[in-house]
Amino acid sequence: MIRAGDAVLVLNAGSSSIKFELFEVAAAGDPISRLVGQVEGIGAAAPCFTARGADGALLADRRWSAEDGEGGAPVDHAAALGVIVAWLDGLPAPRLPIVAVGHRVVHGGPDFAAPVVADAAVLARLRSLAPLAPLHQPHNLAGIEAAAARFSDVPQVACFDTAFHRSHSWEADTFALPPEFHARGIRRYGFHGLSYEYIARRIAREDPALGQGRLVVAHLGNGASLCAIHAGRSVDSTMGFTALDGLPMGTRCGQIDPGVLLHLIEAEGWDTARLAHLLYHDSGLKGMSRLSQDVRVLEASDRPEAAQALSYFCWRTRREIGALAAVLGGLDALVFTAGIGENAAGLRARICEGLEFLGIVLDPARNAAHAREISASGARTRVLVIPTDEERMIAEHVTELLGVG
Ligand code: ADP
Repeated sequence: MIRAGDAVLVLNAGSSSIKFELFEVAAAGDPISRLVGQVEGIGAAAPCFTARGADGALLADRRWSAEDGEGGAPVDHAAALGVIVAWLDGLPAPRLPIVAVGHRVVHGGPDFAAPVVADAAVLARLRSLAPLAPLHQPHNLAGIEAAAARFSDVPQVACFDTAFHRSHSWEADTFALPPEFHARGIRRYGFHGLSYEYIARRIAREDPALGQGRLVVAHLGNGASLCAIHAGRSVDSTMGFTALDGLPMGTRCGQIDPGVLLHLIEAEGWDTARLAHLLYHDSGLKGMSRLSQDVRVLEASDRPEAAQALSYFCWRTRREIGALAAVLGGLDALVFTAGIGENAAGLRARICEGLEFLGIVLDPARNAAHAREISASGARTRVLVIPTDEERMIAEHVTELLGVG
């Protein structure tokens, strides 16, 4: 049981960074964000640590260089967490007591449909899922291990990007393979679940009738996917077994005919490392444009490849919105979120072009102003822009799991 005035530390450990956000637990209502920051470049030549207050004021900005030598720059996740904790400990009193740590974990496999306290047995099961998400899972778990070592009496709560999608039907969860593949865990797990759950909850709180409705949420950031949600539950997602499937992304190609991969292996002698590099790092907006994964750079460029990459991104997103609307049997709202979804008004307009048959009509002025509701008055289907907040979703999960008394 945790109390009002206690703090929950939320950690998101990636391959070379640890992001953190410190939330104060409120007696009633939402956790209050107090501090946010990150260590970037873990293990690299010039790592840095930055932290900001809730008002956005820069409170810490530390950079290391090679001259700092041994004992200086954080070389691994444990050292990076040490930097964060030492900084938190050095803040002027009164400091909020950290009573729980919430972690973003990419893969919960077929079993974890909800957050869980990550004890030794749970950690062992999560470790066994690492081959399903080799780029993320080991780093997420390194974050839990580092936090457990530093805060030994405090529960470590694992919150999964896959959990929200465990409500999928068998049809949405399976590939058209013999049944033993599904039994072995070869399934369409779906990702970005913490983002989708946050959006679904926000809508349910602010507009309960719409919360019972049929939504397609477009999480368009460096990673991009769509989720079909009905009455607050995930029904289908464009992401599948890995975070490679579905929409084109910053550097990932999205859906591709698997025959292309067989061809590259058989006819051109590609090995798995080369294929993985192409699919994860050298495709999508960056690969197609040969310029950048950043929509702002592509929009400012006069290269034809930049225009083509954006055009493909919009076309493909529109196509998948149609597919998910079909799965839902209709649509009450389309929601844009994440870096591109929240900021790229031009792409939102292009994605929605041609979706009038679904009742989608944008109001150009509202769209340009990034208004919360960007659909035209009287349009049959609402179109919303809602900033996502995965860290807050984790803080809410932690307080719900442990209880506030
Ligand atoms: P991540 O998946 O890394 O969390 P984000 O959700 O932060 O990604 O999205 C980052 C992407 O959002 C950038 O690469 C860029 O393409 C896009 N983006 C961010 N700000 C803008 C903006 N003002 N206009 C257009 N695109 C933007």
